Amino acid sequence: MIELEEAQKRIQQALPAPQPETATLSEAAGRYVIGAIAAPMSLPPFDNSAMDGYAVLATDLRSASLENPVALRQIGRVPAGQVHDGPPLASGQCLRIFTGSPLPAGADAVIMQEDTRPAANAEDTIECLDSVKPWEHIRLSGEDVKAGANLLHDRDRLTLGRISVLSAVGIPEVVVGRRPIVGLVATGDELKQPGDDLKPGEIFESNRLTLAQFIARSGGVPISLPLVPDRLDATVDALRSAFDQCDIVITSGGASVGEMDFVKEAFAALGGTQEFWRVRIKPGKPFVFGSLGEKLLFGLPGNPVSAIVTFLMLARPAIVQFQGGSENEDSFISGTLTEPLVNHGNRRHFVRVKIDGNGGVRQAGLQASHALGALLDANGLVDTPPETTIPAGEKVRVFRWD
Ligand code: AMP
Ligand code: MG
Repeated sequence: MIELEEAQKRIQQALPAPQPETATLSEAAGRYVIGAIAAPMSLPPFDNSAMDGYAVLATDLRSASLENPVALRQIGRVPAGQVHDGPPLASGQCLRIFTGSPLPAGADAVIMQEDTRPAANAEDTIECLDSVKPWEHIRLSGEDVKAGANLLHDRDRLTLGRISVLSAVGIPEVVVGRRPIVGLVATGDELKQPGDDLKPGEIFESNRLTLAQFIARSGGVPISLPLVPDRLDATVDALRSAFDQCDIVITSGGASVGEMDFVKEAFAALGGTQEFWRVRIKPGKPFVFGSLGEKLLFGLPGNPVSAIVTFLMLARPAIVQFQGGSENEDSFISGTLTEPLVNHGNRRHFVRVKIDGNGGVRQAGLQASHALGALLDANGLVDTPPETTIPAGEKVRVFRWD
């Protein structure tokens, strides 16, 4: 039996390097870039107006006020998307301008429309009712992003904000780490597909569907494979077929100590190397990890809650790393216990908790490994050390999954 951190380290070492592939920006959200990305252009790309108003020379309006309006002659209009192609703006003149319109040559400020009015008795004349500072209401080229500036570092995650910036600087596609294809194999004679009829002693299978959602959310491509009965030959066939199609195979059930637990034996029969078995955590002790060439086996316990916890702590970081990313502090959120968390056991217990919008954290219900009811409410896990009571009011680190 090994400690969680040791298990995570060995998994990390067994993972292949990320494989670069090109993705369009619309397919890239949540993925990880391979290689740095520099800005091919500045933002804004040209000086432009921040307001609907008039492009002016600031010196013309030095004395302008409501009591002392300054009249300027409007010599034209610059709609957004067009460039003023006349001679540079001269003293006494102005140009109608809109938010985003390129600043015309000669102008050095924009007076907003609300500080102007049409002159009562002169056509094409605007009265300005306020002064403007030089460069007021002008967005300068490069003030936001400078051409050549580093936008993303190698392995950065493509958040929605980052995708927005890449798209604004005209980058249509990016190089990202390939997503792993993750096969889901559920073992157990007692399992039936939801929707089928249950005979006495049978239960509905829930791990494949649950894990598929978690895998997709971690950036993997889940494939749900057929249910496998508790027989060695069937388990060998199922694993062979799974490894033919997938980069990572996740089994649930059949990895414990009973004579009906065939995952380890079947994996060995295929030539797989068992890297370790059993991790000192609760729930989830009978976890097995192995490698078959560059492909990896995560053998999760069958109990649905154990399967979720071992997936989150051991398989999820691997799926992220496969794509070039790394698990980081973003997955954790700090909260304050509203009631004590008690662990009487001798293994650290990942207690299912509910963290609310104010950071209040409480236990989410019955904590036994088979107990699913608590998941109706839970959205996180708190790592509770062995033989420990964490008192109410204490700050805790919550691994938030929902
Ligand atoms: P095992 O790890 O195969 O010994 O299974 C442990 C417990 O989890 C047993 O009560 C199984 O019936 C249950 N179980 C195993 N696989 C699944 C599954 N895919 N969905 C729901 N329960 C399961
Ligand atoms: Mg079983």
